[in-house]
Amino acid sequence: MSLSRRNFFRNLGAGAIAGAAAPALRAFPLSPALEHALWGNSASAAWPESVATAADPVLLYRNENPYGPSERVVAAMRESAAGGNRYPRTEYDTLVDKLAALHKVKREQIVLGCGSGEILCMAAMSFLKPGKKLVEAAPTFPALGKLAQTAGIEVADVPLNKRYEHDLPTMLSKVDSSGAAASSSGTGLVYIVNPNNPTGTITPRKDIEAFIAKLPGNITVLIDEAYHHFATPGGEYESFLDRPTGDPRVIVARTFSKIYGLAGMRIGYAVASVENAKRLAAGFPGWSVSVVSARAASAALDDVEYVKLGLKRNTDDRNEFMAQAAARKLFVIPSQTNFVMLDPQRKPDEVIAHLKKQNILIGPKYPALDKYIRVSLGKPDEMKIFWQAWDQMPATGKMAM
Ligand code: PLP
Repeated sequence: MSLSRRNFFRNLGAGAIAGAAAPALRAFPLSPALEHALWGNSASAAWPESVATAADPVLLYRNENPYGPSERVVAAMRESAAGGNRYPRTEYDTLVDKLAALHKVKREQIVLGCGSGEILCMAAMSFLKPGKKLVEAAPTFPALGKLAQTAGIEVADVPLNKRYEHDLPTMLSKVDSSGAAASSSGTGLVYIVNPNNPTGTITPRKDIEAFIAKLPGNITVLIDEAYHHFATPGGEYESFLDRPTGDPRVIVARTFSKIYGLAGMRIGYAVASVENAKRLAAGFPGWSVSVVSARAASAALDDVEYVKLGLKRNTDDRNEFMAQAAARKLFVIPSQTNFVMLDPQRKPDEVIAHLKKQNILIGPKYPALDKYIRVSLGKPDEMKIFWQAWDQMPATGKMAM
């Protein structure tokens, strides 16, 4: 028997699952453990409510789209909000049809989630249980690994290589060959985040393909393409949705939280084989996505121009960030996303604390890259505030923490 939903909930704690996956359970408080799992910050440090008093904080910490959704999407949300008294009727079908057409797959291959965070939960619950291992990179988006660990599942964290790519040969060496789906032990799931969070780097498509070809047994590979739209086209990155391999073991997760500017609407999806799509969705209520979110996502898919604008804005903002960093002789890991990791040449804790005092929130410290800080790109005026605050930073070691 795979990890039963009841056991999984019990292992995670009701508070944890409330925030991660099941909106129906949202009445439970979000536990600090899950807060940390999802965002890497403690609850008290992470939420603007605990920081802001007079002015809104500058939010450079969760890789959101600072420009928000497009006008067309906002109009769709306004319109659909008026029908908020009704349960979803046709909205899911419309969205699933659009996604199936976009990715040239059957509609049965699409699974909607309350954010791609819910897709990660579904994958954990479908493919992991005590005895089944998760193999992932370090550092990477921590939610899946933390959920697995909390449920007593072994997690192999494999450091990124020198180019900040997934170290696929080492990941392969951590995969146990008794990984057949029905087997009670072995590797249950491999998680690849491409482009990766928090480094903003990509792992070449050809390397992932070669890795999957060498994977023994029926081991499922979850490729998280949350930052797909920001990756440089024509380079070494290529989406497994844009050019599928046809390997039924591959599941791809996408989100509307990033380029589409809909993080607060909580909507994402997976594309999988028909069998894996069924397996992912099994036991989940299937109505976690709100009517407003589904309509917003449909409208966002139609607004192709806004995606192009988002990409241009992000490229400009990232170039400006690189120029500002270079002017201060700061090393930044070359990023293909809407956030950057930089070496602040001083203790990350000091930098995070200094900026927080200035009402600027940046990403948490990542133990596997503990000399770096992660900054989500904000609008130009927000980044001006960021650099002004940066330049006011006392010399290292002289900061009151
Ligand atoms: N995957 C990655 C790589 C992320 O960085 C995030 C959030 O930042 C998520 C998944 C979860 O996104 P959401 O649940 O908003 O779709």
